[in-house]
Amino acid sequence: MSKPIIAVVGRPNVGKSTLFNKLIGKRLSIVEDTPGVTRDRIYAECEWLGKTVMLVDTGGIEPKTDDIILAQMRRQAQLAIDSADVIIMVVDLKTGVTATDHDIALMLQKSGKPIVLCVNKCDAPGGLPADFYEFYNLGLGDPVAVSSVHGHGTGDLLDECYRHIDFDRPEEYEPDFIKVAVIGKPNVGKSSLINKIAGEDRVIVSDIAGTTRDSTDTVIDDERGRFVFIDTAGIRRKSRVDENIERYSVLRSYMAVDRSDVCVIMIDALEGFTEQDSKIAGYAHEQGKASIIVVNKWDAVEKDGKTMREYEKKLEQDFSFMSYAPFLFLSAKTGQRLEKLYEMIRVVNEQNAMRISTGKLNDVLAYATARVQPPTDKGKRLKIYYMTQASTRPPTFVCFVNKAELFHFSYQRYLENQIRETFGLTGTPVRMVVRQRG
Ligand code: GDP
Ligand code: GDP
Repeated sequence: MSKPIIAVVGRPNVGKSTLFNKLIGKRLSIVEDTPGVTRDRIYAECEWLGKTVMLVDTGGIEPKTDDIILAQMRRQAQLAIDSADVIIMVVDLKTGVTATDHDIALMLQKSGKPIVLCVNKCDAPGGLPADFYEFYNLGLGDPVAVSSVHGHGTGDLLDECYRHIDFDRPEEYEPDFIKVAVIGKPNVGKSSLINKIAGEDRVIVSDIAGTTRDSTDTVIDDERGRFVFIDTAGIRRKSRVDENIERYSVLRSYMAVDRSDVCVIMIDALEGFTEQDSKIAGYAHEQGKASIIVVNKWDAVEKDGKTMREYEKKLEQDFSFMSYAPFLFLSAKTGQRLEKLYEMIRVVNEQNAMRISTGKLNDVLAYATARVQPPTDKGKRLKIYYMTQASTRPPTFVCFVNKAELFHFSYQRYLENQIRETFGLTGTPVRMVVRQRG
């Protein structure tokens, strides 16, 4: 099931980012940061009482303005609000209730989502200050007193949010549907691809500011297979402002990755690899999703016999952090090689869910350690006693060793490659977990 989403909303400077960072704490990323990947800290996991939710920092809303940057923030906030299961509205004890707070409260109430009011900057220990009660005027029920700087009250805040979340809600689709996120920068061709897949020119709903909009998934259930293509192009208006909303489209991609089994990472053949591609692909990698790198607009590239191979070489460097991902050069416009895409999606999805028996794994281990001896340090040699697969999606292997610090990254990488050579695991990341024994 995709994780419930809590959006942190409020006007600028009330302390949203501070709260966000406090709530995600040390779980900034579950996996180590992937080298070479840029990231946006606007969307992260938060664990509380053994359950995980996703937190979104909306970057602030200032309702009445024509300023372009603020208008962009509002779009991002709107997306967060539409997608959220619960909204935390943050206000500032020091400034008291402002007119903007009232506007935001009204706007949030219209969304119909549960709202938890967080009065931030309640730093002083002991009883609640008199000013606190003023926030009842927002009509959002009992406020929760929090100091994001000190961390006071954050537990109460999350308790209150969790009251509104159904952690046992059913799956949206039957389990044999493969959920596919088509992700990439604005204008790379996501909607064109989805339209081609859907076989008709779907109506693209334009967004009138403030109207709620549900993203529409494209469901395929025919001879091609059973797929759900998750909408990421979503709301769009062909104006310059919207096309520049890079951060906003990154957030959209992140959310789609979370709901997906397979990520189709789209690169524009005419533009090549960019930093934003690295952010999006890096997130898919860290979340352990199966991935395919699709180079779109291949029809528009002037080619000779070597072009594709040269392109591939360049992309192999750009995507060196996920060298397991296969490439596919296609054209969303003409439909060239689209048939191949369905097949690849099925393959990488299966590989992501692969289970390897402990017996077979340890055969590979025995062979690999005999071929290249494990590293030593100060006369002590690494011993890997045993290896077993702990989970799937992505395949995660636990290695029991005599001394964890001897199990260097390079040897882990070597073992991973040996496993891949034997079992394939195309298109999926794998994880190695090291456990020290005696
Ligand atoms: P945002 O614009 O809503 O994301 O606000 P920030 O998180 O950037 O915080 C704005 C300012 O308020 C910064 O100077 C923070 O240090 C400060 N701040 C945030 N939380 C607290 C708090 O709990 N207590 C105090 N005293 N200051 C805070
Ligand atoms: P999105 O923002 O990622 O959804 O991108 P769109 O699907 O709206 O495509 C952006 C622009 O790229 C449009 O003008 C498309 O016609 C064009 N485009 C998309 N796919 C292709 C393709 O395969 N070849 C060519 N030549 N143009 C394409």
